[in-house]
Amino acid sequence: MLDYLVVGSGLFGATFAHLAKKAGKSVMVVEKRPHVAGNCYTENVEGIDVHKYGAHIFHTSNARVWNFVNSFVPFNRYTNSPVALSRGRLFNLPFNMNTFYQLWGVKTPAEAMAKIEEQRAASGVTEPRNLEEQALSLVGRDVYEALIKEYTEKQWGRKCTELPTSVIKRLPVRFTFDNNYFNDLFQGIPVGGYTGLVKAMLEGIEVRLDMDFLKCRSELESLAKKIVYTGPIDEFFSFRLGTLEYRSLRFETELLDCTNFQGNAVVNYIDASVPYTRIIEHKHFEFGEQPKTVITREYPMTWEPGKERFYTVNDEKNSRLYQEYVALSKQLPNVIFGGRLAEYKYYDMDDVIERAMDVFSRE
Ligand code: FAD
Ligand code: UDP
Repeated sequence: MLDYLVVGSGLFGATFAHLAKKAGKSVMVVEKRPHVAGNCYTENVEGIDVHKYGAHIFHTSNARVWNFVNSFVPFNRYTNSPVALSRGRLFNLPFNMNTFYQLWGVKTPAEAMAKIEEQRAASGVTEPRNLEEQALSLVGRDVYEALIKEYTEKQWGRKCTELPTSVIKRLPVRFTFDNNYFNDLFQGIPVGGYTGLVKAMLEGIEVRLDMDFLKCRSELESLAKKIVYTGPIDEFFSFRLGTLEYRSLRFETELLDCTNFQGNAVVNYIDASVPYTRIIEHKHFEFGEQPKTVITREYPMTWEPGKERFYTVNDEKNSRLYQEYVALSKQLPNVIFGGRLAEYKYYDMDDVIERAMDVFSRE
């Protein structure tokens, strides 16, 4: 009898399994995909680590999490600094003095602040009730129209007036010439990709790939005292209360016979007339100098059963349904639900690791 059967080899499952083994517990991992690492999986193509489920940049202010991941593999000094193409012009992101200079020609923080203040006052928004109002009160109408509106509506398939303010609150606004997309203390990419990181975390642990827990449930449940489930919570309960909604993505990847396609890892395409939201050039995450390059266009897509789940849609309807599943899960003391799918939450990688650490320490 195993102490734990972990369902899913993403960062939640891998962290939990590693800590359990280290504490002397017996643990096995089952994974329905043909590879480990969940959505941060990278695959080596022509010497380049390709982020197969979208660009993943590790950033955290949590020293415990940073030291934990660095104990398995070294991380490089990559700092995410995407650029955005809007109506034929390139702008720096996140919104900072470089962006304001490119947009208005303003050269000092005082000039930029005055410009934003003027537009904020003209918008008349005092308490933002949706994403559009949040953006107008944060950066004014020009930035909203040049860099936010069309990208966001393409990404989410909804009008900015129908989206929650929380979506945009992730992005920093700075009055310094600093193009770092994140405010965190630590940032980087694991040298050799995320798959190497997760493999190192799972070293010495039996992992069964191509095995869907839900398809051989009774056989697998009888193997362990406790199940750690990191798949979709509604699927665990056979969707009996309803289906939780997601936003999906489609990726188009190309190997190109050139050394440098766009000069940056991430270029966002704002205009509604372009069907994708960004192009990722994978080699730049690791300062690659390979003779070829791999690029991926990312197309937002409506999710429907059978498609890959990417972003949770945490509106009122889905949040209520999720809480009903939580109530059901409380009746199963031998199943731990953890990670972005089982907790129906937009977690960054560091959040997921921290959460798995906390859950394990409670165990
Ligand atoms: P997952 O990685 O999804 O792992 C769950 C695993 O469980 C999967 O491998 C799945 O196949 C398996 N599984 C599910 N059901 C079953 C079953 N029935 N049987 C067996 N196995 C099963 N975070 C950052 O910090 N930085 C970023 O730059 C970043 N970029 C992102 C970009 C995109 C496009 C997306 C969608 C997310 C991004 N994230 C980023 C978030 C990051 O992907 C997640 O925080 C992380 O992958 C969550 O890990 P997890 O273990 O919870 O889930
Ligand atoms: N966003 C935008 N313009 C951009 C980049 C982001 O308007 O060029 C908005 C958009 O609403 C997006 C949100 O900011 O959903 C969060 O962006 P982030 O890059 O953090 O999204 P993710 O990497 O998670 O897709």
